[in-house]
Amino acid sequence: MDQDKIREGVRLLLEGIGEDTGREGLIETPDRIARMYEEICGGYTQNPAEVLSKVFSVEDSEMVMEKDITFYSMCEHHMMPFFGKAHIAYIPKNKVVGISKLARTVEIFARRLQIQERMTGQIADAIMECLDADGVMVVLEAEHLCMTMRGVKKPGSKTITVATRGVFATDENLKRQFYDMLKA
Ligand code: ZN
Repeated sequence: MDQDKIREGVRLLLEGIGEDTGREGLIETPDRIARMYEEICGGYTQNPAEVLSKVFSVEDSEMVMEKDITFYSMCEHHMMPFFGKAHIAYIPKNKVVGISKLARTVEIFARRLQIQERMTGQIADAIMECLDADGVMVVLEAEHLCMTMRGVKKPGSKTITVATRGVFATDENLKRQFYDMLKA
């Protein structure tokens, strides 16, 4: 990540809105934001395949679900936060991963400029491919500050996106089971 470019960009932004970049409260802001971006956009340099590479063998193939994974991402249209919960289920063929790895996978894709629809699909594809699963279903529910703080201003409104892969794409019973487990 080019910290100099971020610092320069933030300085220009501050000037653009008519701020005094030399005043006390703002003098370190470009540097603070540059360091912050290392974290909130740090997902570009991380590979979900590495996170999902440590697998365990299993005999059965019952649904595994991890719900209410909190995430924070940034909308690529406004560079404002969107945040909420991710719910993931998969049907293992004969490999499972440690549960924390699902949350790590969400984080890797969240820490990029995103649109929620694409992020949902990326999480599903990564799990499907890396675990060679029979099926994956991912639901994200999030509040977008670009919608609730500006523009249409609907505080608390949520955007829900769904991605299904493999058996989840075709089996309505499995989808129903997913939503039942989500409510439980
Ligand atoms: Zn937006």
